[in-house]
Amino acid sequence: MKLSHTPVEYHLIDNVPLFIKRDDLLHPAFSGNKARKFAYYLQQPFCHIKRVLGHGSVQANSLYSLASLAQLRGWQLDYYVNHIPQSLREQPLGNYAAALAAGANIIATDGQSGEQLEPMLAQLAAQEDDCLFIPEGGRTAEAEFGVRLLAEEIAQWWHEQQLTELVVFLPAGTGTTALFLQKSFKSMLLPIKVMTCAVVGGDDYLRKQFVQLCGDITCHPTIVTPVKRYHFGKCYREFLLAWQQLNRAGIEFELLYDPLGWICLKSVAAEINQPIMYVHQGGVLGNESMLPRYRRKYPELFTQ
Ligand SMILES: *Cc1c(COP(=O)(O)O)cnc(C)c1O
Repeated sequence: MKLSHTPVEYHLIDNVPLFIKRDDLLHPAFSGNKARKFAYYLQQPFCHIKRVLGHGSVQANSLYSLASLAQLRGWQLDYYVNHIPQSLREQPLGNYAAALAAGANIIATDGQSGEQLEPMLAQLAAQEDDCLFIPEGGRTAEAEFGVRLLAEEIAQWWHEQQLTELVVFLPAGTGTTALFLQKSFKSMLLPIKVMTCAVVGGDDYLRKQFVQLCGDITCHPTIVTPVKRYHFGKCYREFLLAWQQLNRAGIEFELLYDPLGWICLKSVAAEINQPIMYVHQGGVLGNESMLPRYRRKYPELFTQ
């Protein structure tokens, strides 16, 4: 199972020279930044654990990664979601289908939000010795362990290339990956700057996430603000166009995070007078559920 040391490829996309860190080439069942964030739970002993509790969206990339983690460790995964659409129950696909196949127990609540579920599940796990709670999207201090290894791989590549500086760009959900990357580069005393954009909740939400994970603002990545406000998980014409442009590099990108990441990076690329690395954070199995939605909404943008 490949869980580290992914290659870096050079591509020119829409006239932007990019080094792409292919973290999508980690093992398909445990790929991208979730593999990095969950590496701690895979590698530490946790001998007494039998069950892991998680929550989030029914099509989240982290659902499938958690299911794979639980399967690899022989744990039961109980994953709580707000709602399971009837059509998905009847015809499972994407991350949901893969998680079911990996043995995940996916539990629909009666519409409870993440803010309600998180303290409940944390308390439940605290009461039982054999039970471990992992917050939504792997937003935990434990994520630093695996993200640090990613930072070390990038640093090693940077040394080999004999670069004097570098901007590492990656779109953020919880911001956990971006934050711990920047923190790692800072502690290595390297002039590598992490830039990101808020895909899920806006810049203020992202800044709050950063503060929760690390109070020292000199460890915080630089946030690029999109020119337009987008809602997470919605289908936008410019997102599909951005995704198709990225894919022309011969690599499949992810449809929830990468389109806005690419739009934001392009908006500032001309001002960055440094080599740029884009971190491909995996998650492409989720495209199985996103693509049909795009096809229905913008049939004219699909030529075949
Ligand atoms: C989860 C995920 C992200 C967001 O990662 P954070 O660490 O929460 O910021 C970005 N891209 C992809 C493909 C993901 O699966």
